[in-house]
Amino acid sequence: MRLILLGPPGAGKGTQAGKIAKKYNIPHISTGDIFRANIVNNTELGILAKKYIDNGELVPDGLVMDIVRDRIIQDDTKNGFLLDGFPRTLEQAMALDEMLINSNMKLDAVVKIKVNLDLLVTRITGRRICKECGATYHVDFNKPKKSDVCDLCNGELYQRSDDNEDVVRNRINVYIEQTTPLVEYYTNRDVLKIIDGEQSIDDVFNQIVKEVE
Ligand code: ADP
Ligand code: ADP
Ligand code: ZN
Repeated sequence: MRLILLGPPGAGKGTQAGKIAKKYNIPHISTGDIFRANIVNNTELGILAKKYIDNGELVPDGLVMDIVRDRIIQDDTKNGFLLDGFPRTLEQAMALDEMLINSNMKLDAVVKIKVNLDLLVTRITGRRICKECGATYHVDFNKPKKSDVCDLCNGELYQRSDDNEDVVRNRINVYIEQTTPLVEYYTNRDVLKIIDGEQSIDDVFNQIVKEVE
């Protein structure tokens, strides 16, 4: 199964991606996670990407395509993959199409998680992430059993540096300007599924499963 998760920052892509990847045994490929790992390890890519990420701007398409191209050809993608946070521009979507055609692969679905804009800021500013395993929590909507500690691995929870209100507002505007054209792009390819992202985490998941099977 080859899936894309589309939606604004805070829509719940990462949360659902973890569950979908587990159910279908496919790798969860998040370009944001790849950039953050590079920033932590202080790689050349990380240093380049950081200044865009800190301002809530998109990392240039060329850099993004390099990492996706490398990631998609790894062995664990034979059964498929789940792309989270990619593509984010028309250029990225077209470059992905070309890669898929060249490797004789087809997308099964593009799942758009729909959430009203006013809820996104609350979701993102309350987001907390496990330092060890990457699991995502929310201080009100998806609390860990013990505050600031991961239920799954006892890791410490942290807040992403770009999850502050100013940067979030910019990220939402960037999404509206640069990523919403993909809705039409994938509608025209007859692969778009729209999911109500304001339901409970489990209900969103069940609806996604129903749509993609
Ligand atoms: P979100 O939680 O907002 O969906 P991500 O973790 O997907 O955020 O992305 C964090 C940041 O990483 C983005 O604001 C952007 O700067 C950069 N980024 C991630 N994926 C892409 C991409 N496909 N194209 C350009 N920039 C990206
Ligand atoms: P994205 O990857 O799209 O930026 P996340 O999956 O990280 O979004 O979710 C953003 C925040 O909203 C997290 O704190 C998460 O726990 C919370 N969240 C995700 N899905 C839901 C939901 N259905 N209802 C309430 N809160 C949610
Ligand atoms: Zn953890």
